[in-house]
Amino acid sequence: MESLFRAIPSVDKLINTPQGAKLIAQFGHHAFVTQARSLIEQTREHIKQHHDLPEFMHAQSVFQVIEQRLQQGKQVAMQGVFNLTGTILHTNLGRSIWSAQAITAATQAMENNIALEFDIDAGKRSHRDLAISQLLQQLTKAESACIVNNNAAAVLLMLATFAQGKEVVVSRGELVEIGGAFRIPDIMRQAGCKLVEVGTTNRTHLADYRHAITENTAFLMKVHTSNYHIQGFTASVSEEELVALGQEFNLPVISDLGSGALVDMAGMNLPNEPLVQEKITAGVSLVSFSGDKLLGGPQAGIIVGKRDLIAQLQQHPLKRALRCDKVILSALEATLRHYLFPDKLTTELPTLHLLTQPLEVLQEKAERLKNVLSKRSNSRYILHIEPSLAQIGSGALPGERIESVAVTISAEKQRDLLELEQQFKAFPQPIIGRFHQQKLWLDLRSVSQFERLIEMLENHQIIGERK
Ligand SMILES: *Cc1c(COP(=O)(O)O)cnc(C)c1O
Repeated sequence: MESLFRAIPSVDKLINTPQGAKLIAQFGHHAFVTQARSLIEQTREHIKQHHDLPEFMHAQSVFQVIEQRLQQGKQVAMQGVFNLTGTILHTNLGRSIWSAQAITAATQAMENNIALEFDIDAGKRSHRDLAISQLLQQLTKAESACIVNNNAAAVLLMLATFAQGKEVVVSRGELVEIGGAFRIPDIMRQAGCKLVEVGTTNRTHLADYRHAITENTAFLMKVHTSNYHIQGFTASVSEEELVALGQEFNLPVISDLGSGALVDMAGMNLPNEPLVQEKITAGVSLVSFSGDKLLGGPQAGIIVGKRDLIAQLQQHPLKRALRCDKVILSALEATLRHYLFPDKLTTELPTLHLLTQPLEVLQEKAERLKNVLSKRSNSRYILHIEPSLAQIGSGALPGERIESVAVTISAEKQRDLLELEQQFKAFPQPIIGRFHQQKLWLDLRSVSQFERLIEMLENHQIIGERK
């Protein structure tokens, strides 16, 4: 044992070798010493337990192991993945993919100082939401806008600004839980307001709202039931009716749209989603929606509506805590600019491009994917091309499915399939599919960077070979 311990090199000795010097030049003294120390410590433990020198302490491999660990330290854990789940806006996979223009705008903001709160012509201070607000006025006919971190923040800010210590009237059919602990009753409590529930789960009438109004009512609220449908014997009150009631009592109506859309989805052969501008036209005072759902941009919460109300939101201390940075605002502005050219949306905006790809295109992609997988996979796997049903995701249009095409993989033994899934996850850029009916489905509707996927598979070893 003693001789084994003596065989461990000291940190100094490792430093004073050509290999050590090279790694120090590349990664710096501190990081090298940290890794060297931890390796030596690991070696001591190994000797105590196994009474021999670990493999990595032989000859050159010490430096190889140190270099590997130093390289690992540079690797970003949140790596890119290929989304073949069939869910286009997958919250766990980061929702929407930015357009080329949004990426350029964001990069430019990263590399430079920008006129974020500065009016260049007038040479004086401006407001960070101003440019986007002007765009949104054009796109939604709203008077003004306020931009925050996400739609959850938007709802929180609206409640905290106008309803702290007051009552907010919401239908029992709209007490949504979005996931990730965003529940309408909880967020009301956070914002210090009192939720007044009206109606029943399946039916709420205008009279229910009317009876709930007191002198302590702050506003009437609509929440888009974005992730569930209530079917059968149902009734709900439209924004128009609610606005008329609100006007009687001088109460604003606010609407949390969730996804919201700025263009008619039905016109693109997609399931219908409420339009932001329709709610504004209906007289809703404030409408909030997400930047990274159907809009197809960065994570953000967008509030549009009446000028005086927006001004109050802008002045609330929470706005300072919830505001967006220059990168997000630049990307959001670039994303919104696409909507000035609606005919180009399905080519230029990745989210809408993915959603509207014709089935023939997906079929062709499926054939290419199946070919490369057949070439590269073991005979234990059976590959087919099958019709599939994709979904928008992120709560947008629940229950509605979009026709798609998938490569499905099955195996005699389920264990083999699980092994394959693990191998897909171990690729330099992992491939994420979904299990359904004992098969692994690779849905072509949700994958962007398809050529890169094929290229990766072309250049990879046989899949499914046992090690
Ligand atoms: C998605 C959603 C939210 C939360 O939006 P985030 O941008 O994810 O914070 C709030 N309300 C509704 C109705 C939603 O669909």
